[in-house]
Amino acid sequence: MAVPASSSSETPRPLVGLSVASLKALMSEWGQPAYRATQVYKWVHHHQVRDFQEMTNLSKELRTRLADHFILENLRLKTRQISSDGTRKYLWTIPSGHDIESVFIPEEKRTTICISSQVGCALGCSFCATARMGFLQNLTTGEIVEQIIRVQQDTGVKITNVVLMGMGEPFLNYPRVIDACKIMSDPEGLAIAAKKVTISTVGIVPRIRQFSEEDQPFSLAISLHAPTQALRQSIMPVADKFSLEELMDSAREYTRITRKRITFEYVLLAGVNDNLRQARELLKLLSPLKCKLNLIPYNDTGLGYDLPAQERQATFLEALSRAPFTVTLRKNRGNDIAAACGQLYAKSREDEQPRFIAQPPDARAPQIL
Ligand code: SAH
Repeated sequence: MAVPASSSSETPRPLVGLSVASLKALMSEWGQPAYRATQVYKWVHHHQVRDFQEMTNLSKELRTRLADHFILENLRLKTRQISSDGTRKYLWTIPSGHDIESVFIPEEKRTTICISSQVGCALGCSFCATARMGFLQNLTTGEIVEQIIRVQQDTGVKITNVVLMGMGEPFLNYPRVIDACKIMSDPEGLAIAAKKVTISTVGIVPRIRQFSEEDQPFSLAISLHAPTQALRQSIMPVADKFSLEELMDSAREYTRITRKRITFEYVLLAGVNDNLRQARELLKLLSPLKCKLNLIPYNDTGLGYDLPAQERQATFLEALSRAPFTVTLRKNRGNDIAAACGQLYAKSREDEQPRFIAQPPDARAPQIL
């Protein structure tokens, strides 16, 4: 990303999310040695300073010049809710005026953050709250990365795991998401292990193929939710565009090229996809693959579905007990603050009606290709 020539009259731009390469261009324009770029990059992404004056290995003049042209905080914290289990949900306002959400999930051995990649979502999965917003906007690389920095600053806890499972479809914002993941995993950036950064996709087949061909070091999760094409189509409109067969083919290709395990997510919806026959179909579908299955108990979003009863969940799990892959049943976190999977639905006013956007509103609209 090129940094345009700067004049003192311009509005300050966010510094978070700028790569070393773009900072090098800026430093050269400012007549500074190239190594200053790495120093600035590290202060922002690694040390995560909140004030330019803390960048102590830079000259006073350079610090002042940076402060004149850039800002360190681009997201405005709107609300923060803390659950009885320690989960925290943050609502941020981005410069366009829209709100996005991030969820902090502390556990004994790891600390996970669930972040957003878009404002709203275009995919329309019938059980997901974010789908009700429609697609509004892609987030920038900086807006994606800053969610982690700000939560880390707020909690004082080092984030060990990132999941792109908040609002939006990461693979419909591919280049920015990948750039953001690179900064997250860069030892001079946020220094989070690349394999602990998981991108969850609804199943945008061409982007799964691209992700494999590029041999990206990040982990991949696919929202499967149904063992057959017909059922998948009935709950996930994306299946009209990319069939289950194509999806499984791209998943196989991913495991072949990268030699990595893929995670399939399967939200349990009572009376829809939770019977024994479907468990067996799922077993058959996934057995040939190097994968892991993560069953997600449905979080009620008032969209007409129910969470299967405990025994039914147990029976489904039991039917998969001899699977050649690992099966986990996700524990719900932060339910008292509606921070669980699929519950992220940012609205600025409580009385605001959900927005349905049939056509993406502008040129930044994602294309399902
Ligand atoms: N667009 C990405 C990220 C979505 S959110 C994707 O589709 O993978 C992460 C996961 O939460 C997805 O598997 C999504 O299908 C699931 N999810 C959505 N609504 C849910 C709900 N109400 N209960 C449980 N999981 C839900």
